[in-house]
Amino acid sequence: MSNEKPCRACTDFRTWAKRQKEAYDSEKEAQKKQNQTLISNNGTRDNCPLDKDELGSKSWAFLHTMAAYYPDKPSEEQKADMNNFFHIFSKFYPCNICAKDLQEQLKYSPPETDSQEKLSQWLCKLHNEVNTKLGKPEFDCKLVNQRWRDGWLDGSCD
Ligand SMILES: Cc1cc2nc3c(=O)[nH]c(=O)nc-3n(C[C@H](O)[C@H](O)[C@H](O)COP(=O)(O)OP(=O)(O)OC[C@H]3O[C@@H](n4cnc5c(N)ncnc54)[C@H](O)[C@@H]3O)c2cc1C
Repeated sequence: MSNEKPCRACTDFRTWAKRQKEAYDSEKEAQKKQNQTLISNNGTRDNCPLDKDELGSKSWAFLHTMAAYYPDKPSEEQKADMNNFFHIFSKFYPCNICAKDLQEQLKYSPPETDSQEKLSQWLCKLHNEVNTKLGKPEFDCKLVNQRWRDGWLDGSCD
């Protein structure tokens, strides 16, 4: 079939309508194929809006990875920026109850931005407070760099 846009005024109605249907069917088929490839191994779709738990685990992954790659000796500007980042993040985090709780946590436990080690440990403790609130097990913060930066010592991530 030609890729030309069907011209209604250049063809009779039957031909035009047939071409329109062909174009519609082929677009539908392409969409179907694309959707099939987006169903992941566990049978869930990976192209749908996030729910609270998906948003949570993806957000934690981003936050811990950001902390893992924070400088060992940050400049004063980097420290201030990281502090601002968490405060702004807590205002826009798109789960309201989570955002409110995070704002409260930041009041009594502000980000520790003096080094990669300090920031990663601070974030690990913050995440553990959420884990406890939700009845999830605490993560061993000694292992935070293996989990989010270096990979496990047994080489299972290599
Ligand atoms: C800032 C924030 C606040 C949230 N507040 C709420 C809330 O108030 N109510 C609510 O229902 N949900 C909240 N959530 C979502 C919740 O924390 C979980 O993300 C969600 O329940 C999915 O949990 P999960 O079992 O997939 O593991 P997650 O808790 O998402 O953890 C993901 C992975 O991080 C690792 N991990 C776990 N704990 C730590 C840690 N302490 N340090 C480093 N790594 C760790 C583990 O390998 C784990 O598999 C919040 C999420 C965020 C980002």
